[in-house]
Amino acid sequence: MADDTGFVYLVGAGPGDSGLLTMRGGELLARADVVVYDALVNPDLLRLAPREAEFLYGGKRAKAHAIPQSDLNQLLVDKAKEGKTVVRLKGGDPYVFGRGGEEAEELREAGIPFEVIPGVTSIIAATNYAGIPITHRDVCSGFTVVTGHEDPNKESSSIDWEALAKISGTKVILMGVERIGRIMENLMKYGVEGTTPVGMVRWGTTGRQETLVGTVADIAAKVADQGFKAPAVTVVGDVVDLRDRLNWFEERALFGKRIVVTRTRAQASQLSHRLIENGADVLEIPTIKIGPPKRRDVLVEAMAALGEYDWIVFTSPNGVTAFFDYFFRAFVDVRNLGNLRIAAVGPATAAKLADLHLKVDVMPQKYLASEVASAIHAYENVDNLKMLLARAEQANPELPKELLELGAIVDDVPVYETIIEDQDANGAAARFKEEGADWITFTSSSTVEHFHARFDLPALAKTFPEMKFASIGPETSKGLKSLGMEPTIEAAEHTIDGLVDALVAAGASE
Ligand code: SAH
Repeated sequence: MADDTGFVYLVGAGPGDSGLLTMRGGELLARADVVVYDALVNPDLLRLAPREAEFLYGGKRAKAHAIPQSDLNQLLVDKAKEGKTVVRLKGGDPYVFGRGGEEAEELREAGIPFEVIPGVTSIIAATNYAGIPITHRDVCSGFTVVTGHEDPNKESSSIDWEALAKISGTKVILMGVERIGRIMENLMKYGVEGTTPVGMVRWGTTGRQETLVGTVADIAAKVADQGFKAPAVTVVGDVVDLRDRLNWFEERALFGKRIVVTRTRAQASQLSHRLIENGADVLEIPTIKIGPPKRRDVLVEAMAALGEYDWIVFTSPNGVTAFFDYFFRAFVDVRNLGNLRIAAVGPATAAKLADLHLKVDVMPQKYLASEVASAIHAYENVDNLKMLLARAEQANPELPKELLELGAIVDDVPVYETIIEDQDANGAAARFKEEGADWITFTSSSTVEHFHARFDLPALAKTFPEMKFASIGPETSKGLKSLGMEPTIEAAEHTIDGLVDALVAAGASE
């Protein structure tokens, strides 16, 4: 085989919770040229791949650009022949009802080298997250898994329902929500007690998880009643009763709450992670991204004359990142900063500086841009001192004004620009438009402004009157109020942790 042939990795993406991807899977995603993913794959995982990678949807669910299975196999082969590293991400484990075997066979036939990385399957994970252990020494000693995608009354059914009914232990059925009535009838026909407990777990391990509990006799009626839909795992057996005691996931403070995160994609992860850890269903809908400033001359001049400044002031973590991107393009040594004092608006900005081993001299008690000037002035008289404000291009004029009034010489240096993000890489914006959300979180007045530009907040509030707004602090709240919207809660501490605490407290009091 030619040396320049690529490689195909069939990677189990796990059941939904992005934390359940294997380390090997993450490592391979990080160096993929092409990523082909399924409907059941958590789209947040795509972020682990390089931005320049090619992303192709290969799922079966109705989507305009879905690729048929036969074309898909050919595509994997073609991409590999081009020398590409292809990651084929499949929900759960690739070999569990996922056609992974067929895909691997075709790759072998075409002479393409491949590796198959197991994944955490929904069989054990969705049940676990619903508080149902698939085995338990006191209850059963085994489990049997079947696919429910065939009609059990079909003559040629490949599943021996009689044998399944007779075997002891937990029974798990994947797919087949639509045929649940006939499946349960067959089990009863061959001797399973109608009173045997049944649990059905939909979108298991994710913030959208829903669990329906009943018995073999009544579960089908409940499914119909509640309009319970796929994708779901059905588990039949006495282990279902253990849910009363072992339901660790659905008990979380924000479980069942759909929460929108509006930060930039690069910044969203900390907030999203904390919300997900509290059980929330997070929709990441960034409305801005960070780009280079339009006016560069001021920045170039400031870099050339860094030694003349007494202070550098950062009002956001983005400002720190952007400033030092330029700084390290101009200099190799951090000592070129000179003998500057450093001010930061709050702990997140200070933490970004700490990553560079830079200590902050001044941070205001209240983490507000309007407090920075007086905090610096309290540290030392700023009269005649030269200040570099490293900020966004469209930043608030208040801070330079206050510093000027105190007698400082101020250079307001744009180090980045916020640009509108209108892509919907993870499908979250589409879901949001359809289903709304319980909460929208805002972490800056610019996210309010841009979210409004994209979705029209007052109109949204009419469509989804139950939707609530969480603001990180007074400046963000001001942004909401200027649109005639009232923040439902405002974080007492104006940090991501403060915002999460406020949401948890609000969730707990409901
Ligand atoms: N390879 C996958 C299964 C693919 S078949 C795995 O190992 O999990 C698709 C079926 O898997 C769905 O119809 C549903 O029954 C089940 N499934 C997959 N992910 C699920 C999830 N997060 N919650 C509930 N069921 C899920």
